[in-house]
Amino acid sequence: MNRPLLGQIARKTTGLRRELHKYPEIANLEAGTAGIIAKVLEETGPDALLTGIGGYGLAAVYNGSEDGAAVMFRAELDALPVADEIDTGYRSVNEGLGHKCGHDGHMAVLVGLGMYFKEHPPAKGKAILLFQPAEETGEGSKRVIEDARFRELKPDYAFAYHNIPGYEKHAIILREGIFATASRGFIAKLRGKTSHAAHPDQGINPARSMAHLIMKLESLPAEVITAGEYALVTFSDQVMQVLVQEAEHYVKSLEQPSGLKTVFEWTEEFLATENDSTAAGMVKTCATDNGITVIEKKEPFPWSEDFGRFSEQTRAALFGIGAGKEHSELHSPGYDFPDEITETALTLFAAIADRLLNTE
Ligand SMILES: [Zn+2]
Ligand SMILES: [Zn+2]
Repeated sequence: MNRPLLGQIARKTTGLRRELHKYPEIANLEAGTAGIIAKVLEETGPDALLTGIGGYGLAAVYNGSEDGAAVMFRAELDALPVADEIDTGYRSVNEGLGHKCGHDGHMAVLVGLGMYFKEHPPAKGKAILLFQPAEETGEGSKRVIEDARFRELKPDYAFAYHNIPGYEKHAIILREGIFATASRGFIAKLRGKTSHAAHPDQGINPARSMAHLIMKLESLPAEVITAGEYALVTFSDQVMQVLVQEAEHYVKSLEQPSGLKTVFEWTEEFLATENDSTAAGMVKTCATDNGITVIEKKEPFPWSEDFGRFSEQTRAALFGIGAGKEHSELHSPGYDFPDEITETALTLFAAIADRLLNTE
């Protein structure tokens, strides 16, 4: 592997990362971001560049000359409706919006991988760089998978990383099996009836039922890490199905004694992200070979990732890269992607690609 070249590429992508940061767009509105990415990918000379996949998604394909595996690497296009409060020259110019999950950095790494393929194209099989839309709302990967043009690419392997504040910078955080949890958001509407102050007995007050509902959600099985008020989180998709039924059933049951009208709507849905043992093993080997620290996580992370749907379809691995122990938290106004970890991510992705797509 060509380490000096990867270092050069990593430095080159910093400008791109900061440009993406300056013009953040939220889920389903990533047109400008997709335009920037398409332009820089074209310069890497892919054999195919597909746009408009499952929304504003893009896929660049680099073919080897012999048959082999299709290996996908994924980044996310979307930012968040969180104001950018960093004090830099590339602060967001889109009011109230910011790249507060580091997807700008994830995209820069994937473009860097395209630059690497320009110099070192796969010998066999094909490499796919997927820029998926709408990760934060849990909609994008489903739409990408359902897109006929994406289905033709048939990835055998899928890899992605997420930067993770609170962990040592550059360390890989890995787990075989479930890496990130399944979650579902919901909205429960309880409609009561107002009454004249003189006749409170004729009104229906939903406050008491609401309090019961919150208590009930908190008493659901121990696998629910945070019921919060509006989200269920579980380690597995099977447990989620049971909880979904239970929550819905309970809300309905509030109607009878109280006379309330209830409406129950499920919103964001994320599957658990389950790491394949071969794919996770490869991440570990490639990290170790390149002197990168590996932290094996005992428990899954208590958050969800839209990558979960790819883990249902392919041999997939999602891993973390430490963003620094003291780094601002994801989704907070002061967060900014740490550019120093770009080279680490790029080195690891290139090592995985070399392993699966080269003949030696
Ligand atoms: Zn996020
Ligand atoms: Zn994210």
